[in-house]
Amino acid sequence: MSGTFQALVVDKQDDKQTVEIKALSTDDLMAGDVTVRVDYSTLNYKDGLAITGKSPVIRKFPLIPGIDFAGTVEQSSHDDFKTGDKVVLNGWGVGEKHHGGFAQMARVPGDWLIRLPDTFDTQQAMAIGTAGYTAMLCVMRLQEHGINAEDGEIIVTGAAGGVGSVAIALLARLGYTVVASTGRMNEIDYLKSLGASRVIDRNEFSEQGRPIGKEQWAGAVDTVGSHTLANVLAQIKYGGAVAACGLAQGMDLPASVAPFILRGIDLLGVDSVMAPKVRREQAWQRLAQDLDINLLENMTTTISLSDISVYAEKILAGEIRGRTVVDIRG
Ligand code: NDP
Repeated sequence: MSGTFQALVVDKQDDKQTVEIKALSTDDLMAGDVTVRVDYSTLNYKDGLAITGKSPVIRKFPLIPGIDFAGTVEQSSHDDFKTGDKVVLNGWGVGEKHHGGFAQMARVPGDWLIRLPDTFDTQQAMAIGTAGYTAMLCVMRLQEHGINAEDGEIIVTGAAGGVGSVAIALLARLGYTVVASTGRMNEIDYLKSLGASRVIDRNEFSEQGRPIGKEQWAGAVDTVGSHTLANVLAQIKYGGAVAACGLAQGMDLPASVAPFILRGIDLLGVDSVMAPKVRREQAWQRLAQDLDINLLENMTTTISLSDISVYAEKILAGEIRGRTVVDIRG
């Protein structure tokens, strides 16, 4: 394969991080048995941390960031994939220590790839992206815990963000009554359009609270961590559970054991990056089945490679609603 392609490259010299669009060739890509022409990637919270350098997400320089992508196989020596297959990738250290999705070409081990369900095209796959796939993993955890629609309200924190938006859409479609917690009360109409039954101000959860409070929620999807997660835990009904995946407020968890030992609740950790392949395939099949794809358009902003640096700042400032798709096509 010859010719060059566009890629966003993050480099670091003398502790100073640079972000630049460069022309690379496939010889510049890392090892892998499948080469993919990338159609779309997305900007996730973690990409924001990587590009701004606010957290040490990138562990090898220079690196093409972008923790997910969807595209078409150009070349494969992996048994499961052939030229022309539509594929999606989430995580596995891509965009952290292996060149990622913010480039027109990617090369990865085929074991990291999932065949895209026919329901989605590559644009829709990235409107879902890692945030949507993580939201699905959270919902699966709550369902596996045995939380049913009739058990009561489910609260979603960081509701207007990427994971939050898809979690609301999924839970509402599955018949749950969903309460959205947001700092953006101007997004009430948006959150209700996704299926939230009511919307509450995230300030209720932001500060140090009591170790245990009134039982309010059958379950929760928490994308925020810190005091928010601690306060949500304190309000979970007897036997309920929280699927926790995020740290938008902080990585700390200033909570008490009270809700665990007095109400038998569970804290369910959700990781999308190293989730086994079979779990990913399940999640993408479930997304094909349970997500109303008509909602994706209203959730999505589309940007190009040259917009990424600006949007990286915006996502960390909590200024992005829903999902940000990066159109990589040449
Ligand atoms: P977004 O930035 O799209 O959403 C995060 C949302 O959190 C914001 O939109 C905002 O929602 C809320 N928020 C931001 N700052 C604060 C704050 N200081 N206090 C309270 N709420 C805040 O990010 P994503 O949806 O892509 O990701 C959400 C979280 O999940 C991130 O922490 C990310 O790292 C994590 N994540 C983890 C994964 C895993 O595998 N475990 C995979 C994917 C994401 P609002 O405006 O509605 O209040």
